[in-house]
Amino acid sequence: MTAPRVGVFALQGDVREHLRVLTDLGATAEPVRRPEELERVDGLVLPGGESTTMAKLAVAFDLLEPLQKRVADGMPAYGSCAGMILLADRIEDGIEGQPTIGGLDVVVRRNAFGRQVHSFETDLDFSGVEGEPVHAVFIRAPWVESTGPGVEVLARVEGGPADGRVVAVRGGDSAQLLATSFHPELTGDPRVHELFLKIVRERS
Ligand code: GLN
Repeated sequence: MTAPRVGVFALQGDVREHLRVLTDLGATAEPVRRPEELERVDGLVLPGGESTTMAKLAVAFDLLEPLQKRVADGMPAYGSCAGMILLADRIEDGIEGQPTIGGLDVVVRRNAFGRQVHSFETDLDFSGVEGEPVHAVFIRAPWVESTGPGVEVLARVEGGPADGRVVAVRGGDSAQLLATSFHPELTGDPRVHELFLKIVRERS
């Protein structure tokens, strides 16, 4: 079987870290900045960064509509942190008129963890990831405020002020969309990307 071709949205954010994890896992990973580059990938990672900037740049680079179309047509996508915000159908605490790619029937709250827990780390039980808990790094992270029918909750924070908050989900018409509030590309644990590549392989 040929290696899946996976793009990383590369107008802003921690692009290199995702490219490295995907390459290490045997995917053909490439940055996506233009509609032609988006056309040829089997799946797309939307990295962490600043969702308002990423959305503005996507509009400026004529990439927002092609992204909306490919996601609506069933292309697998994985959004981490700001990428989760971009995949959400609805955003709370966004900037006015903040555009979104959408596809994931959730409400995501930007910068949800507040000032006290600006950035923090914790271990999560992650449904669909075998073995030990996933060590999760949160950086000005969003959480999932509510989920629509057909969206599966994969992980929640346990304990602390954010106890029970949803921080990983899977959804979309064919369960092809994955999103996490945290950054697995920063911890050297490839299991969340592995799960995403499994989704890409199953659909290409
Ligand atoms: N707070 C950022 C936003 O709103 C997300 C932070 C991140 O991706 N690490 O886009």
